[in-house]
Amino acid sequence: MNVKVVKFGGSSLADAEHFKQVAQIIKADPSRRYVVPSAPGKRFGSDIKVTDMLYKCYELIRERAGREIIEKQYSQIVQRYESIIKELGLDFDMSGEFEYVKNAMLHSSGRDYAASRGEYLNGIILAKYLGFYFIDAESVIFFRENGTFDEEKTNEVLSAELKLHEYAVIPGFYGCMPNGTIKTFSRGGSDITGSIVARAAQADLYENWTDVSGFLMTDPRIVENPCTIDTITYRELRELSYMGATVLHEDAIFPVRYAGIPINIRNTNRPEDRGTMIVANAESYDKEHIITGIAGKKGFSVITIEKDMMNAEIGFGRKVLEVLEDFGLSFEHLPSGIDTMSVLLSTAALDSCKEKVLGAINSVTSPDSITVEDGVALIAIVGRGMIKAKGTAARVFDAISSSNVNIRMIDQGSCELNIIVGIDENDFETAISAIYKEFVKK
Ligand code: ADP
Ligand code: ASP
Ligand code: MG
Repeated sequence: MNVKVVKFGGSSLADAEHFKQVAQIIKADPSRRYVVPSAPGKRFGSDIKVTDMLYKCYELIRERAGREIIEKQYSQIVQRYESIIKELGLDFDMSGEFEYVKNAMLHSSGRDYAASRGEYLNGIILAKYLGFYFIDAESVIFFRENGTFDEEKTNEVLSAELKLHEYAVIPGFYGCMPNGTIKTFSRGGSDITGSIVARAAQADLYENWTDVSGFLMTDPRIVENPCTIDTITYRELRELSYMGATVLHEDAIFPVRYAGIPINIRNTNRPEDRGTMIVANAESYDKEHIITGIAGKKGFSVITIEKDMMNAEIGFGRKVLEVLEDFGLSFEHLPSGIDTMSVLLSTAALDSCKEKVLGAINSVTSPDSITVEDGVALIAIVGRGMIKAKGTAARVFDAISSSNVNIRMIDQGSCELNIIVGIDENDFETAISAIYKEFVKK
């Protein structure tokens, strides 16, 4: 029998009704054997995800808020789970678990432990409801001492454990440090767990079930009803998710790419839709749309360094980059002219050490001037079809300038898979809509 690993996101498990839909999807196909749930997400626009409620509870404990305030916050979390248990008609008592988790949180078990309990508790309930075995991620997903994911150890232990159970639920988002404490991936990390489980199970397919019918050509919050991408390569997807298309965590492709397992993004609310297939190679592309997708992120700063005869000064770039390295800053782009060099990096990261970084660049390069501008957004136009189509860059620039938006930076990846433009944050939505219109819907 072939094996499918299915991950369900927070909105797919937000309440009992969604649990029922999820169970129906799983039971409809016996090859859906390993299930990775997120914590309950938002039930409506202004609702709060359980993960965020847990972070809040942790903060209250850390700030030594009054016992009553902490109890109130925690009981709201418990209520989310209890209403799911009750409405599913499950006859089982989780009060011991809830008490245990609360006490552990009160006794400083850490921020990651607190956040991870959203998936842990949801996993126990889902396993009970489905009649599947529950595997605690703590015993099968491992991190190294330095906090990076330990793929070798995980793969060895997890694949051995999966072999013991035909059907199982493995909660997403967290694993275990060498000293036994809990560590989570970054936000949205259940997607990564799904991918890790798919690799360990040597699955034929990793289905990632969410609240949209696949990867859309652009963010539906910016463009109304964008087209769905039928097939996308891992590389294109990485570019898009890194640049803010949040459907799938940007690191989720690595374990499955390694094993050549395709990912299928599906909609829990519309299981009849085929969704998006993410594959290693897709020779053909939809000729109608030369681009595969558009994504973008706000919150960047540009440091511009000017110095006459910079081009002749060997090692100039290295000195600047060494300063960034010393401060643990990673940069996004390095557009440069003959006598200027610009560094694009995250404003949030730079803000923590801005004065020191500028001072250090000043002292190692003795520039004529050094300036910082905030409020930059980056947009990535991604597509394997671009390499074969002439004039794509011209069309991108034309679309942007025709909508009266000024382009502040241009970068084209050497593999011609993407074009990146930097614009003012205030023009972000206008520019994305203009590019979408130019390439997809006139
Ligand atoms: P889950 O809780 O299932 O993990 P996420 O909220 O992480 O779901 O991801 C799905 C959401 O991603 C969608 O509801 C949509 O608002 C947003 N999104 C952003 N960009 C895109 C895109 N290009 N295609 C589809 N959805 C997108
Ligand atoms: N629950 C976690 C979060 O909200 C992980 C996830 O949903 O993938 O980020
Ligand atoms: Mg997600």
